[in-house]
Order: sequence, then C-alpha cells, then structure tokens
Amino acid sequence: MTRSTPKRILLKLSGEVLMGEGAFGIDPTTVDRIAGEVAAAKEAGFEICMVVGGGNIFRGLAAAAKGFDRTSADYMGMLATVMNALAVQNALERMGHQTRVQSAIPMETVCEPYIRRRAVRHMEKGRIVIFAAGTGNPFFTTDTAAALRAAEMGCDALYKGTSVDGVYDADPKKVSSAKRYESVTFDRVLNDNLKVMDASAVALCRENNIPIVVFNIRETGNLARVLSGEGVATIVGPATVEAA
Ligand code: UDP
Repeated sequence: MTRSTPKRILLKLSGEVLMGEGAFGIDPTTVDRIAGEVAAAKEAGFEICMVVGGGNIFRGLAAAAKGFDRTSADYMGMLATVMNALAVQNALERMGHQTRVQSAIPMETVCEPYIRRRAVRHMEKGRIVIFAAGTGNPFFTTDTAAALRAAEMGCDALYKGTSVDGVYDADPKKVSSAKRYESVTFDRVLNDNLKVMDASAVALCRENNIPIVVFNIRETGNLARVLSGEGVATIVGPATVEAA
C-alpha cells in the first residue's frame, strides 16, 4: 500500500489502548511504549497533535445506561480524558519532548485552556499538543473532537490508533468471512454504517477533506509503519480513495 506522506497529523488514541493488557485504567508501560512511537514520529519530521479518549476509565453512555444522568456522566468521561492526556504528556516529556495539554474544559491549575491560535503556535514551535476533555460538550465523543481539532489545526490526516487493524464490512468478531477494506470512501462508511468513528466525526472529515487512517496501535511499531504508508490500515477518504 502506498500513501502520500502528510506533514501535520492528528493522532487519536482510544482510551482503551492505554490499558495495555489490563481491563481498566492506565498501564504506564503501555503509555511509555506509545509515547516512544509518537516521539519517533516527531523526530522523523511530523508535526503532531493528539486527542486522547477516556474509555479506559469512564464512558458516559455506559454509565447513563445504568441510571446516571447522561450529561453528568459525559462530563465525567471528559475528565477521564484529561487524566489520560496528562499521562501521555508525562511520558513524552520524560523522553525530552516539549508538550502542551489544552483542555476544552478550562482547568488552569492543571493545563492550558483550548485556544486554537495558541495551539497552532505551539505546533509551529515544535511542541506536541495534546487536546483533552473532548469537545467540552456532553453528547459528543472524542472521535468527533479529533475530527474537529484536525480541521481546526489544518491537519493533513487523522490517524485513529485503536485496537483493530482497520475497517471491516462486518464485525470480524462475529462474521468469520468479514473483509478488511484497504480504502473506503466517506460516503460508503456513512451509508453502510461501518464502524469507524461516529457519523458526526466522519461527516466533519468528509466536509474538510481530511482522510482518516484507522490502524491497530496495540501492535508495536505500527505508527511508524502507517506513517510511512506501509502498515496494515484502512484509509477512509473521498471517492478517489477506492480507485487508488
Ligand atoms: N465525552 C463527551 N464529549 C466529548 C468527548 C467525550 O461527553 O466531546 C465523554 C463521553 O461520555 C465519552 C467519554 O467522554 O464516553 C470518553 O470519550 P470516548 O468514549 O470518546 O473515549 P474513547 O472511546 O476514545 O476511549
């Protein structure tokens, strides 16, 4: 698979990848391993910003299903992403990289508030910017936050580092003949309701022409591989992507 190399990227990390082999929370060894891969990508010349999920700690929808008020539960989920962002920041800084965490929910004794122009300036100065607290609004996900920040920051592509190696035409856990797409259009993802990111995130990327690269970040070395266009992944893009 060959892909053109983007320069400024947004890396979305699902919260669950930070659990490592555990069932909950943050595994420091895994955080260090992923941070090492992000650091290597930075050293290879990419400008990187990140959005970190919170599913390893708290998911609003799951808590709401058990009786929590949905908006309170979503705020708890957003706070969980701040913990994850601080863990990733800490690991990157121990590796000698300058970082800034910007939160969509202002908490000035912990990190910066989200200010787009300031985030752009940080990236121009070579810092890795980690966006926390999602969009700052309940009823959204960090996938949508990733699409939004990728558009705001003028990113060339959104890399979704998750626990699966791409987008399938059916659930591979249930359908043994499920086929992984090498590339698939935004329209097909939305029309066929393929499980990539939520529809609002995909639509935002389609409107802003930002390709989404879905890959398994649990596998060591995969970030470098997909950034060089060689790893196992699915690219979601405009109509030309399926013809490529
Ligand atoms: N969340 C929210 N608004 C946002 C982003 C996240 O309310 O803009 C909440 C929501 O409850 C979600 C939780 O934060 O379940 C954790 O985010 P997400 O589920 O997207 O994390 P991931 O699946 O990537 O680990």
